[in-house]
Amino acid sequence: MKNKPFWQCRLAADTGKKAGELLIYGPIGDQTWFGDEVSPKQFREDLQALGDIEELRVYINSPGGDFFAGNAIYSILKRHGALKVVYVDGLAASAASLIAMAGDLIIMPSNALMMIHNPWAVVTGDANVLRKVADDLDLIRESMIAVYSGRTKQPRDKIISMLDAETWMTAKEAVDLGFADEIEEAKKVAASVNGTKAVINGIEVDLTKYRNVPDFGQLAAVRAGVSPEDVSDKLAPEDTSWEAPDLEDFTDKSWDELSDAEKRRIAGHYAWARTMPPETFGDLKLPHHRPSDGAVVWRGVANAAARLDQTDLAAEDVPKVRRHLARHYRQFERTPPWEDALGNKLRLLSLELELLSHGG
Ligand SMILES: [Zn+2]
Repeated sequence: MKNKPFWQCRLAADTGKKAGELLIYGPIGDQTWFGDEVSPKQFREDLQALGDIEELRVYINSPGGDFFAGNAIYSILKRHGALKVVYVDGLAASAASLIAMAGDLIIMPSNALMMIHNPWAVVTGDANVLRKVADDLDLIRESMIAVYSGRTKQPRDKIISMLDAETWMTAKEAVDLGFADEIEEAKKVAASVNGTKAVINGIEVDLTKYRNVPDFGQLAAVRAGVSPEDVSDKLAPEDTSWEAPDLEDFTDKSWDELSDAEKRRIAGHYAWARTMPPETFGDLKLPHHRPSDGAVVWRGVANAAARLDQTDLAAEDVPKVRRHLARHYRQFERTPPWEDALGNKLRLLSLELELLSHGG
């Protein structure tokens, strides 16, 4: 039986530059890497089949896997003559982060993650086998230190302490430390965390394998949330000024001193909450009700609608939040901008149809 490779190679669809694409999605092969079909040789041949390309775009979303495989791919990519542009499409952890280091340019969406740690192995065997494996792991670790340190220009000691600590980096941290070059603001990674499992752009990651899993704050930014029930339906006069509230505007207590009911009441001033009741005040977004009496403030509603696109919401939350805000738009006898855009298109379309039918 043929093993399925964990990569995919193809020519880029756009014209102009002769570019290839390499997708490394999912775990990086383990034993299969050493089988007949899925091997460094096959990988090299797949790359060669792309012909003489000027640019190779490498898309990575992987929790890592086999370090030998990762290391071999890194070396093959490094030697490849094309300009290598690496896109971290969610997660480049462990061996996958090693592969990313082959990039001349490494680009990460702001909520993507990179993780580096010491190589480890699951082995059974006697003391000699275990000693041998430990020696192997030391060798791999040395080559990893060389790769990371070479790419980032961080001193060896710094890399060692990061490996020892199992370091997870957001895009910003990765750029600051030299593990990446650019943050891709326009792109957001879809991620959800469910118990011990994270799903990052469709790739499942078993969190129990890691001892230093971050709070996934960056990922949680796009975790599906809720649009809370309005605290009040009362409307403030339309010209009421608006300022985003602080916790002190609602209460003298700290967030942790509040009861669940109080947390829910405060959440009712916002169009989005990470959970209900929210765990922190920061888990609330898009305020638009006046803290003093809960009245809907028109300028707050318009402000929330305008900021909707720049707020890190899971795609599935956008309709919920729009429904919430659209209701307030109607209370103020207005049309939400997203409905208006559609309305304009429909009006244009019917105008064109009318012209067409009169044209003949
Ligand atoms: Zn509301």
